[in-house]
Amino acid sequence: MLKNVCKCKLTNSYKLEADNVADPIWCTTCGWNLDIDEFSLQDDLKNDLFEWIDQYKKIPANKHNAIGQNLTEKVKENLGSKCRVIFIPQNY
Ligand SMILES: [Zn+2]
Repeated sequence: MLKNVCKCKLTNSYKLEADNVADPIWCTTCGWNLDIDEFSLQDDLKNDLFEWIDQYKKIPANKHNAIGQNLTEKVKENLGSKCRVIFIPQNY
């Protein structure tokens, strides 16, 4: 799992950050936007992530951040203890 998903190859540190035009998982080392399909995430979690991205800037920022924090915990559970995942809250 997780081989060569990032151009810097240091693939155990990620951040969850919403963006209108990109998948929500990024490498914290080089800032590369990662293809969410490269991760072994449960389908319902993937759906939740895309739904969350879809609602970005359509729901209040504090609500967006609360859901994002919750999703970050689920991503962590899916990826296991070798991966570090942080959440980047947004203000808008
Ligand atoms: Zn990287």
